[in-house]
Amino acid sequence: MAYDLLVKNGRIVDGSGMPSFLGDVGVSRGKIAELGRLGGPARRVIDATGMVIAPGFIDNHCHYDAQITWDPLCTFSCYNGATTVIIGNCSLAMAPVRPNDQEKLMGLLSQVEAIPMDILKAGVSWRWQTIPEYMDAVEAKLGINVGMMIGHSAVRLYAMGEASQERAATEGELEVMRGVVREGMEAGALGLSISRNMSHFDVTGKLIPASFAPEEELFGLARVLGEVGTGVIQSGGGTTPELKTRLMSRISEASGRQVIYNVLRESVRAPGGWKKHLEFVEESCRQGARAVPLCSPNSVVSHFNMKNCQIFRQLPNWLSLINVSDAEKLQAYGDPEIRQKLRLDLQAPVTSDSRFVNRWDLVVVAEPYLPRNQGLKGKTIAELAEGQRKDPLDVFLDLAVEEKLNTVFALGHNNMDRDAVAEFLRSPYTVVGLSDGGAHVQYHCEVGYSTRLLGYWVREQRAMSLEQAVRRLTFDSASVYGIYDRGMLRPGLAADIVVFDPQTVRPGNQEVVHDFPNNGWRMRSLAEGIEYTVVNGEVLLERGTYTGATPGCVIRNARYHAVQNGCS
Ligand SMILES: [Zn+2]
Repeated sequence: MAYDLLVKNGRIVDGSGMPSFLGDVGVSRGKIAELGRLGGPARRVIDATGMVIAPGFIDNHCHYDAQITWDPLCTFSCYNGATTVIIGNCSLAMAPVRPNDQEKLMGLLSQVEAIPMDILKAGVSWRWQTIPEYMDAVEAKLGINVGMMIGHSAVRLYAMGEASQERAATEGELEVMRGVVREGMEAGALGLSISRNMSHFDVTGKLIPASFAPEEELFGLARVLGEVGTGVIQSGGGTTPELKTRLMSRISEASGRQVIYNVLRESVRAPGGWKKHLEFVEESCRQGARAVPLCSPNSVVSHFNMKNCQIFRQLPNWLSLINVSDAEKLQAYGDPEIRQKLRLDLQAPVTSDSRFVNRWDLVVVAEPYLPRNQGLKGKTIAELAEGQRKDPLDVFLDLAVEEKLNTVFALGHNNMDRDAVAEFLRSPYTVVGLSDGGAHVQYHCEVGYSTRLLGYWVREQRAMSLEQAVRRLTFDSASVYGIYDRGMLRPGLAADIVVFDPQTVRPGNQEVVHDFPNNGWRMRSLAEGIEYTVVNGEVLLERGTYTGATPGCVIRNARYHAVQNGCS
C-alpha cells in the first residue's frame, strides 16, 4: 500500500500498555493506516532504528489560552513530545468575553497564572466573543492540536459582570451561564473547568469569579454536561473539598460525567497525606464515582543562596537578617550566638503553609562556588553533616560563609519522596500530567513532565515499564478527557506520533528565552531525545526544529463527532 508517511524499524509502543514490538507505522491521509512490517511505497520515510514510536503525548493541563493566539505551536509542550494540549483549565479562559471585559479577563489569567500583563496586551488581538468564535479563531492556524475546557470564571464574568466577584447568581444569571456552557459543549469543548482554589485572586486582590459560586451553581452547570451527554469537569483546588465533603465525587455523580481535579502530591508539610488521599480516591472509585486527581512526575525545586534567602522569611530570626547588607549577613551567619537563635527558629512546628521545613536531607548543594568544594555538588546537607559529624545547620552556614554566600542550594518540598511519587504515578486512580504549560512563565517551565517520566522515572528509577509510562502520557489522558480518536497507535486513529530515543530522552535545562510579544522573556525547557513530533500525519518538529507545518486542529468532544463530521 502507498503511504503518505512511513515510520520504519522502530520499537512500537502503542499506548495501550501492551508489550512493545519492532516494526513500522504507516500513515495515510492524516490517520494511522497499519502497524507491523510494512512495504511501501511512501511519500516520506522516517528511519526510527533504535527509537521508540509512540502516540503523541497529551499535555492535559495547560494555560496557553492567550499564548495560542500568537503561538500556534504552544511552545514548548510539542518539543517534549506533546501533539495535543488542553487549555481553559482552573476556570480561566479567553471566551466568552464582552468587548468591555477583555482587559479584565486577561487580568485574571495574568494574575493567577503569572503571565505579565504587558505581554498579554501586546500579544492578544481579540477576534471573538463567544466560545465557538474563539475555537474558530484559534483553529485558523494551529501547529499542535488543542482541546478546550469552558472556564467558569469567564462564563460567570460574562453573565454577571462585576457581581461575578460579589455574590451568588440569580436564577436568570444561572440560566445565561447554562446557555453559554451548552453552546460551548455543542461546539465541541471537552468540558467545563471550575475552581475551588481559594488563593486565586485578580489584580485588585479579589478572589476570581469562580470562587464565588455556591455549590448549587457548580451542580447546575455540571448538569448541562449531563444533559448534553458529553464532556468532563476539571477543578482547580479540588483536593480539600473532595477529602472533606466528597464534592468532586458528588459533582461526578450528579452530572454523570468524569471529574479531574488538582492535585495529588507528596509534601513534606503533610507526611503521609498523599497516601490517605490516594486510598480515599481508590475507595470512592470502587464505589462507582468517577473523580480522580491529577499528579505530576515533577518536583518543583527552588534554588537560592544566602544573599537572597526569602525561603526562610517565616522564621523571625532569619527574617531579621534577610534585608541587611551582605557583609552583615556574612558576619551574622558566622556568629555562634546568632546561630543559636537561628537554630531555635527551626524547631517551629510545620504547618501547611510553612515555607522552610527543617529537613536538611532535602537541601542540596546545587552549585558550590569554590573550586575546592566542587566535590560537594549534588550532596545533601544531611549527608555532609553525617560525614563531618556536625550539626546540619553548622554545615550549611559554614559552607555559605566559607564561599562568601555564593553557594547555590536547591530545595524541594513537594514530590521529593521517590517511593511515594512512584506509587501514585503508577496508580490507575490518578491522571499523570499537570504541566501548567503557558503559566508561571517567568518562574519555571514544567512541560518536560513527559520526558522526565520517560527519562527519570522509567530509565533511571525503573519505577514503571516504558509501555506503562507511554500509556500514562497518551491513552490514559485521551480516555479520561474523552478524546477517543487519539492516544493510541491503531489503524483509523489520528496519526499523532512521537519518535524518541529511550536511551537519551529527558527534559532540557530551564533557561531564559526572550521570544514573547513586547520583547517579553520567559523560561523554557526543550528536550533531549525527541526526534520527531508528528501531528495529524505531518511532521511538526524534526530533531527540535520546527518544519513550518500547521496541521493542528481543535479537538472536539464525542457528541460533536456524532452529530457532524468534525476535524480528523
Ligand atoms: Zn491550572
